[in-house]
Amino acid sequence: MSEPLSDFKVIIAGGSVAGLTLANALEKAGVDYVLLEKRDIAPELGFALLILPCTTVVHDQLGVSKNYLPPAIPFNIREHFDGRGGLVSRTNEGHLIGEKGKRPLIMIERSRYLRALRDGITDQSKLRSREGIVGYEEGPHGVTVTTDKGNRIQGSLLVGADGIHSAIRGMMHPTVDTTKQFETTFRVLIGTSFNHHVDNKEKLLMAEGSTNHTIHPGVGGLACASIPGKIFWAMYVPLEKKPLPESGKRTYSDSDIEEAISECADVHCCAESTFGDLYRSRTATIMVPLEEGVVDLPWSSPGGRVALVGDAVHKTTATLGLGGNAAVDGVCYLMNELVPLLRRTSKAVQPRQPTSEELAKVMKAYERQQRPRAAYAMNASYYATRFETMHSWWAWVVRWVYGLLPVGFKVRVFSDFNGSAPVFDWLPHPDAVEGKKEQ
Ligand SMILES: Cc1cc2nc3c(=O)[nH]c(=O)nc-3n(C[C@H](O)[C@H](O)[C@H](O)COP(=O)(O)OP(=O)(O)OC[C@H]3O[C@@H](n4cnc5c(N)ncnc54)[C@H](O)[C@@H]3O)c2cc1C
Repeated sequence: MSEPLSDFKVIIAGGSVAGLTLANALEKAGVDYVLLEKRDIAPELGFALLILPCTTVVHDQLGVSKNYLPPAIPFNIREHFDGRGGLVSRTNEGHLIGEKGKRPLIMIERSRYLRALRDGITDQSKLRSREGIVGYEEGPHGVTVTTDKGNRIQGSLLVGADGIHSAIRGMMHPTVDTTKQFETTFRVLIGTSFNHHVDNKEKLLMAEGSTNHTIHPGVGGLACASIPGKIFWAMYVPLEKKPLPESGKRTYSDSDIEEAISECADVHCCAESTFGDLYRSRTATIMVPLEEGVVDLPWSSPGGRVALVGDAVHKTTATLGLGGNAAVDGVCYLMNELVPLLRRTSKAVQPRQPTSEELAKVMKAYERQQRPRAAYAMNASYYATRFETMHSWWAWVVRWVYGLLPVGFKVRVFSDFNGSAPVFDWLPHPDAVEGKKEQ
């Protein structure tokens, strides 16, 4: 940890991908902060996240990726099957991206990833779990938040990393229903399963290391045997078959899950196995709506002391696994603007705090850079989900030519996203010691 930059203090709402990455970065930059998470940090939920090399580079800079990399099996081959298990396409996309990014493309348990981010923080007293933010007041010199425990905390900047149902976003735009910034066309059933048949432990459901997509009318899917003995999987179903969860609930009920799986149990996730097989060998499942959108309202307050990052302002479907990676990019852009400002002001002839105007400028610069990246992730995921569920007329055309398309074309979404990702430009690039320039 470096010397404190000043008595500037950041309050972070949310202790997940964006919030914990930001906390690590602030600690590395020597900026004071406190993180409030309304639930537990890194809860054991049993689900997974795909991590691109560009995200691992950033976490290398923070020194936390070594805690999550093993024992993932790099995702090298990507196969697309039709619902009857017929092979549509097979490419070495993962291998190509991993080779270019000098790091493997992996899919690991979300809890393992979040634990690695949490444990990377030296001063754990800055993390407060089971305490959510329920209000804030912004003034010209700072921001004061109120928590659900009745505490009031003062800071210089509040960052809402509080996800798709962001309370901070709602408070920032009190006259607008900000949930209308997102569209919901699909729901997703997510599961983790043992990689063996429920009645035969010797028989694998999928080859270890394989990553498969399913293209089928009305249900698309993804299944990754990406850690030894486990499969992470997801099934996307258009909402027209089932509206949103009961009012006031954010997840579907167990009977909704049973109903969804009974309709799609025979759909294949690879040549030999079906989603029904995966469900029977499950260790955990959950079904949630899949919101999509990039908030077109401002991402920061006019006074510059409240800003939003991650899913609070951009949400993609889960088909390509880009959402969490995009959240890390947002933190990079924000910190790349904030750190130079804090360094300038703390080293001024008369050291001082940044003004609200200076902060507002920095937040606008962050938003300007992250907005197109978020839109890219959102649009790529939008089309991938509609393709795999054959939800649009064009998907039927693409389906028949997909197997013939060159690997270079199929790899482009990941490769463009990965190749144009930001890093922390105030920290050494992890590959720089070898004298090589990344990207
Ligand atoms: C099925 C599915 C699969 C996915 N797969 C991938 C994948 O493979 N790869 C990938 O990169 N992304 C994936 N994503 C997306 C990824 O999960 C999100 O983009 C990522 O978690 C966003 O991180 P975040 O920190 O912005 O928000 P979240 O992860 O939603 O975290 C927000 C946090 O804020 C807390 N919080 C909420 N309100 C408050 C408050 N008032 N005060 C304090 N704390 C609060 C919440 O409890 C939560 O911990 C997937 C998403 C889904 C739904």
